[in-house]
Amino acid sequence: EALGPTITAGEILVEIMSTSVGTGFLEPLTLLGPFPSGAPAIFIDQVARLGSAAGIISAVGSDDFGRLNIERLKRDGADVSAIEVLSDAPTGSAFVRYRPDGARDFVFNIARSASGQIRMTGAAKALVSRAGHVHVMGSAFAIPGIAEILAEAVASVRSRGGTVSFDPNIRKELVAGQGEARRRLEDILSVTDLLLPSGEELAIAAGLEDEEAAVHELLSRGISEIVLKRGALGSSWYRPGERIDCPAFVVDELDPTGAGDCFGATYVTCRRQGRSPAQSLRYANAAGARTVTKQGPMEGVSTFAELDEFIEANGSKA
Ligand code: ATP
Ligand code: MG
Repeated sequence: EALGPTITAGEILVEIMSTSVGTGFLEPLTLLGPFPSGAPAIFIDQVARLGSAAGIISAVGSDDFGRLNIERLKRDGADVSAIEVLSDAPTGSAFVRYRPDGARDFVFNIARSASGQIRMTGAAKALVSRAGHVHVMGSAFAIPGIAEILAEAVASVRSRGGTVSFDPNIRKELVAGQGEARRRLEDILSVTDLLLPSGEELAIAAGLEDEEAAVHELLSRGISEIVLKRGALGSSWYRPGERIDCPAFVVDELDPTGAGDCFGATYVTCRRQGRSPAQSLRYANAAGARTVTKQGPMEGVSTFAELDEFIEANGSKA
């Protein structure tokens, strides 16, 4: 914390969701939204809600979708100085509809939105120069030029003794083989202190299917901690020779979007504030669980008071 704010770079979007379960958007539907969204934005909003300094390098349009996001981030205490407001591009958007099996159909406008034009502005450089931790959100790599922005931020923060966390957020198809996506993944892994994979991302990152073998491989490369997100099964923490499993809190899942982002933000913040891995994991599980009980990706962010109350009410399971 003494080292300065937690920062990230990447997309800010609004999410607009179908109120009915089903497939796609091929007929008129009742929609609910806009909700503030974008994985990097959700992450930073959650860090700020926990009372920690947080900022994001991003871009929105000069429209209500952009204003809605900036106002929310500001209200929750995030530094919005490095969010550029563009007059010639709309704020990004994602229309989402849930299928009966929990899978999702999307219509995205990201690449051609303001989020597709994120730049290292003067304000962004100033934020980077103050930062103590960079969180790299894999979803952001869909944006041209974001890899260079994140690399500059990582180098700057590390040169001052700061740390780096990485949520791969990757699709297997994107990193198959030895292409550019694979090289980028390797580059980030080589500077990652804390890795926050979910599902198959651990195996993809390590290039090994077996969980223990994958963890061992990544820790041997110099990553200090790995926290594996297991959805409704909770999470596991690994450091060389050590493992802690933390069962999930039992909740009714209403909207799973944002759970991984709030979980990661809470874990990073707790560790940066000096909490133990076990305590940080329990708080992160609570943050993820609270998120899925709220409709809207950023609506379930938590304060420490809310997390303490939730853990008290739902039994401490760590
Ligand atoms: P996302 O779907 O947002 O990308 P993710 O796949 O990165 O998320 P998840 O494992 O789905 O991450 O969720 C993160 C954490 O949130 C889990 O480790 C768990 O602690 C909590 N969580 C998620 N879903 C549930 C649930 N249904 N019940 C209880 N806790 C949950
Ligand atoms: Mg998930």
